Amino acid sequence: METTLRGVGVSHGVAIGEVRHMGTAVLEPPAKQIPAEEAEREQGRARKAVEAVAADLMARGNLAGGEAQAVLEAQAMMAQDPELMADVDRRIAVGSTAERAVYDAFAAYRELLANAGEYLAGRVADLDDVRNRIVARLLGVPMPGVPDSDQPYVLVARDLAPADTALLDPTLVLGFVTEEGGPTSHSAILARALGVPAVVALPGAGELAEGTVVAVDGSTGEIFVDPSEERKQQMEAAAAERKAALAASTGPGATADGHKVPLLANIGGPADVPAAVEAGAEGVGLFRTEFLFLDDNKKAPSEEKQVEAYRQVLEAFPESRVVVRVLDAGADKPLDFLTPADEPNPALGVRGLRTLLDHPEVLRTQLTALAKAAEGLPVHLEVMAPMVADRTDAKAFADACRAAGVQAKFGAMVEIPSAALRARSVLQEVEFLSLGTNDLAQYTFAADRQVGAVSRLQDPWQPALLDLVALSAEAARAEGKSCGVCGEAASDPLLACVLTGLGVTSLSMGAASIPYVRATLAKYTLAQCERAAAAARAADTAEEARAAAQAVLSGE
Ligand code: PEP
Ligand code: MG
Repeated sequence: METTLRGVGVSHGVAIGEVRHMGTAVLEPPAKQIPAEEAEREQGRARKAVEAVAADLMARGNLAGGEAQAVLEAQAMMAQDPELMADVDRRIAVGSTAERAVYDAFAAYRELLANAGEYLAGRVADLDDVRNRIVARLLGVPMPGVPDSDQPYVLVARDLAPADTALLDPTLVLGFVTEEGGPTSHSAILARALGVPAVVALPGAGELAEGTVVAVDGSTGEIFVDPSEERKQQMEAAAAERKAALAASTGPGATADGHKVPLLANIGGPADVPAAVEAGAEGVGLFRTEFLFLDDNKKAPSEEKQVEAYRQVLEAFPESRVVVRVLDAGADKPLDFLTPADEPNPALGVRGLRTLLDHPEVLRTQLTALAKAAEGLPVHLEVMAPMVADRTDAKAFADACRAAGVQAKFGAMVEIPSAALRARSVLQEVEFLSLGTNDLAQYTFAADRQVGAVSRLQDPWQPALLDLVALSAEAARAEGKSCGVCGEAASDPLLACVLTGLGVTSLSMGAASIPYVRATLAKYTLAQCERAAAAARAADTAEEARAAAQAVLSGE
């Protein structure tokens, strides 16, 4: 008998197949004493295993490229953390086996992280994954992770570690379902980058029996367990119809009556450029430059290295808009050499632009590198700052851009409610706004974007978030300036229509979402989008907002 489960759809598409669970069993090695003379050998074994796991993570990163590479490299660095290694050595010296020492040292570190503030909660899954890999290697048992299967399957996991997400083979993995994670978590962003349908924050996913057939709808967040033949046919037909519509839709983004809404790509570096070009991105709406900084957690990349990376991206989009976001370090993207280690609440502390204003040399080098990279190119370079709170922040950023001699438009991301509420004031200093709806939701609802338990509040359909989008877009219109969206909200085709109706002037998203958004936007007129936006704002909940917009657009 068919049953329905509901989670949060975070990556479009339909997947029908058998459930395979991720091998996440925590391997607890027995606690046995070793004689003192074996300590040195055990320490050597531990070091070798750590090095092998780090090398493996780096190799997976190279294979995956793009944003996934940066995440995997960060994990490799975590594996080699000198303090952790020192703790492992100490534990072996007092009689632990290598595997038990690794297990216990990571457990102690894990506790430290879990209690040390919000952003670290998101890194606990990465840490567990690294620990499991090292312990598995020491015990000589198969690595935890993606199941071995030569038949396509639906992957079910508690949460996906970046290492596993990067390894998903889209030809074998039909889709994935996780118990944890929110719509703006790293797993969700990576799933969209892979183009795999995904549903997250689905309670009870772990209890689905291995081999059960499920039908996953990555748009609605529904999972049909043991779907009826009728259901399967209906979902397959809808998916085929959608595929045909996607293939038929090309060209610049616009509504049915020709109101232009440029569709831009979110990228993490040069490796993401080919997918963006292939998807027909009209430029880059968000270049997340922090991925360049993750290679070395101790210092900023040199000006030359930055020039090279920026130039590769700028050259790929001649005559197009490329919006580069200056470094957004801190909170969910900590950097050792910049991020204060002792903040009780890092998401509310020194991050984003605040970090750069405390380290003006880092901002100066980045801006100088951008100016040099753009020299002689016909590109329309735009530079924006993350986490702008008010006009004072916006002015400080614009002053820094002018001082560095960057020939570009300067903009502010709207990620903090104060910037949306006083958008006209912020616009006195900058030429455009870009709504970072991931953080804007986090700060509007006081709901950590990494925590699955509060995903209801991170839903970008929340009417309060739509109100802040409308305020920002209205302010930009009044000032004769532009206001785009570069948060994950832009990648939801229906919501993209609503954002257009709210007055947003461009939409930027992971490349895989562009065809979906383009095809949906082309079906409706601007007036229909405006009516859908008004209906969504009149609702009280995210679900009602979505249903109200859907009803308007489907003419109900
Ligand atoms: C956002 O917050 O919406 C955003 C685009 O920035 P990031 O996801 O990189 O924090
Ligand atoms: Mg942000």
